[in-house]
Amino acid sequence: ATPLGDGSLVHIQDLTELRRLETVRHDFISNISHELRTPIASLKVLAETLQEGTIDDKAVVQEFLHKINIETDRLAQMVNELSELSRIESGEVSLKIEPVDLGEVVGQVTERLRAQAERGGLSLEADIPASLPEALGDEERVEQVLVNLLHNAIKFTPPSGRVTTSTRVEGDSILVSVADTGVGIPADDLPRIFERFYKADKARVGGGTGLGLAIAKHIVEALGGKIWAESTEGKGSTFTFTLPMVAKP
Ligand code: ADP
Repeated sequence: ATPLGDGSLVHIQDLTELRRLETVRHDFISNISHELRTPIASLKVLAETLQEGTIDDKAVVQEFLHKINIETDRLAQMVNELSELSRIESGEVSLKIEPVDLGEVVGQVTERLRAQAERGGLSLEADIPASLPEALGDEERVEQVLVNLLHNAIKFTPPSGRVTTSTRVEGDSILVSVADTGVGIPADDLPRIFERFYKADKARVGGGTGLGLAIAKHIVEALGGKIWAESTEGKGSTFTFTLPMVAKP
């Protein structure tokens, strides 16, 4: 409050959003630091052990170099995904909105990931109706969302399981679902899996950055759709996203 003439001037400002952004930024930085520390610590130990003499044992050297490669790939993937996410969030990525044949996109992505699924002993199926109307989206980005969802489905489903991608029309939207018969997601974790860096039951799987679903959510929402997950622990998960349908003339 500032005295002004006979009265005073009262200035009221709502700082909620500012404070929220500060917290988000703070959490984000502490998360990144945490996530980067693990592969860096592994690299350090591997390098030190090699330096201390293990270098004479050819087999061990090979194994260590392999591990160094994996950790470096992990770091590179994290940096790529982070810069991708920040570009999408800041609206720097320009979307090319055009009619998209989802049946074709699902077919292509399924074929691309078939070898990976087979290596994991899984059957990969696409269930697409013959006459699916076109969706409105950015083909390359929609592909990216599907790849992220299918990667996860394959990663979190034990051998002899099944991953099925299906599409259906509801109102003026087209829904794409990726269903797996995998480990599922605990109910407590389910509301949080689309957050950056969030991973359910960290001990379960080593790899992964926890950024894939955050990226998928940003893309789908930027395209005017929604994305959500349903899951039963031990039985499997279904991830669904919607895209607007091309308006009938
Ligand atoms: P990442 O897969 O790199 O860990 P994501 O953002 O793609 O990161 O996924 C976040 C978390 O959501 C995963 O770590 C996992 O706990 C959970 N999750 C995602 N997809 C599935 C799935 N199909 N089945 C079980 N859990 C899943």
